[in-house]
Amino acid sequence: MSDRVCLSLNKEIMQIRSIGIIGAGTMGNGIAQVAAGAGFDVILLDINDAALEKGLVALSKSLDRLIKKESITSEQKVKTLARIKTTTHYADLAAVSLVIEAATENQAIKEKILAQVDHVVSKKTIIASNTSSISITHLASLNSRPERFIGIHFFNPPPLMALLEVIMGKETSPETLKAVLAMASAMGKEPITVQSSPGFVVNRILLPMINEAFFVLHEGVASAEDIDTGMKLGCNHPIGPLALADLIGLDTCLAIMEVYQAEFKDDKYRPSPLLIDLVAKGHLVRKTGRGVYVYEPK
Ligand code: NAD
Repeated sequence: MSDRVCLSLNKEIMQIRSIGIIGAGTMGNGIAQVAAGAGFDVILLDINDAALEKGLVALSKSLDRLIKKESITSEQKVKTLARIKTTTHYADLAAVSLVIEAATENQAIKEKILAQVDHVVSKKTIIASNTSSISITHLASLNSRPERFIGIHFFNPPPLMALLEVIMGKETSPETLKAVLAMASAMGKEPITVQSSPGFVVNRILLPMINEAFFVLHEGVASAEDIDTGMKLGCNHPIGPLALADLIGLDTCLAIMEVYQAEFKDDKYRPSPLLIDLVAKGHLVRKTGRGVYVYEPK
């Protein structure tokens, strides 16, 4: 592999050759595609063969879209797929140099997974979580080597989004950070370094903006369409905040604001009453076809 990353960890020279990815869902299979596409050997782990198969089908379709756009060749697709092995056994992660946990966003599930990972990997292995909301310092504290634990927050979809938020726990070592920043650049991503804090950087700023759009709508300052047009043309955003809220899911937006309000103990994060009301009415787009806007059934 030409773009192998050399790492100096606690004076030991280590090369990231292989990455274990836990969870073959939306993010896990996307991260596997990015990693294998950059030349890393990947071991993708999920709870059963059906979940792994579903992830591989999505990954293969994603590569087909890149071929259609002439971003990659058919040979590159074959090489990328050949670098990905799948498993349901944690023991198969024993030799990897980095594990990225990208399973369901549930603290108890992640804690159980990370305990199993801690048990099988070598002392040199870096362990990372792709969590969107759970404290990296907390997850690191459960690990026998918190200095080698770090957050790597990919954006959806990983093959297309350039940003990586790299999140430092209180005890994450500078060597671990350096290694992950090198890996990010080998993957062709643009990393930013963030201290462990609710929402990290991007969602901490994005969600309050979306919430404010609901306040503006609720107060009758402007229509939903005019608020979205205002932010698209006035700020050059590719999508308006209310349309984006529908895309994320109004229940997810509300849950995130509630976490910020509770964690920061600051009422500046109070959710808009209109957002609370729409969620209570079940306007969740994917279930009812209604959010801020009304959508045609697919
Ligand atoms: P998803 O529901 O699409 O996939 C989760 C996968 O985890 C499933 O395949 C599931 O079978 C697997 N899983 C569940 N329990 C497991 C276990 N015990 N062991 C192994 N695998 C297990 O979820 P997702 O959207 O890919 O999100 C994954 C993580 O990425 C979450 O922490 C989420 O917060 C984060 N994230 C999501 C997005 C997004 O837009 N979807 C963006 C950034 C970060």
